[in-house]
Amino acid sequence: MKPLAALTRDEANQLRGLLFDLDDTVLDGGRLGEEAYSALFRLREAGLLLIAVTGRPASWAELIARQWPVDAAIAENGPIGWFDDGERLTRFDSVDVDERNRRAALLAELIGDLRRTLPALVPADDVNGRVTDFAFDINEHHRASEELVAAAVARGRAAGAATFRSSVHLHFTFDRLDKATGALRYLRLRHHVDPTAARRLFAFIGDSENDAPCFAAFRTTIAVANLRGRPPIGPRFITEAPQGRGFAEAARALVALRG
Ligand SMILES: [Mg+2]
Repeated sequence: MKPLAALTRDEANQLRGLLFDLDDTVLDGGRLGEEAYSALFRLREAGLLLIAVTGRPASWAELIARQWPVDAAIAENGPIGWFDDGERLTRFDSVDVDERNRRAALLAELIGDLRRTLPALVPADDVNGRVTDFAFDINEHHRASEELVAAAVARGRAAGAATFRSSVHLHFTFDRLDKATGALRYLRLRHHVDPTAARRLFAFIGDSENDAPCFAAFRTTIAVANLRGRPPIGPRFITEAPQGRGFAEAARALVALRG
């Protein structure tokens, strides 16, 4: 990984947008700070489309797309989100209503099984806003042991579910998109950018294991200094500051290079 100073003017000027993670990238321990929030306005003024790509619930994405200076928010690690076309807010789901209901029933059955067999698992406090997945709190308000996480992951995978791990949550889902495929799908549908071009035209900034698909998929990839886990393909650049201050640092670099 290189310092952000190694990012060239050419590369920054080719960008059409920035995809960004929320927890521990823009948010500091779940809080939105002044510096990170201001950075979004500066990035937008620099002509970049801004798209949040988070493991947080669809209900959060609706609020973020409605209130923040962003183009869209993709939630639950890829399959669902909201965008604002300037007039109204639109929800997009990667499957139709019947298939969504079928997957919801499978998920309810799996979560029932996990809670019976591994009673130490604690649901995340944002599960009510979720549509495509269910999350357990492993490092937000409760600390889950690695053994407990491993047992839950094994049981979920045996039932045919996919699992994702962020800095705070362990997710189970019957959807097969991840942050990268979900973002590429959105960029094709809404902005008519084909996936090959999108990988060059959109940068990504994140901090953890559930960001690995985006670190692998996009060309301009940045980690904030608190990067955790070992993504198989790591980000190319890293900030000096952690979390929201790291995000603001990356924003300043992008804005300066495009200025
Ligand atoms: Mg994160």
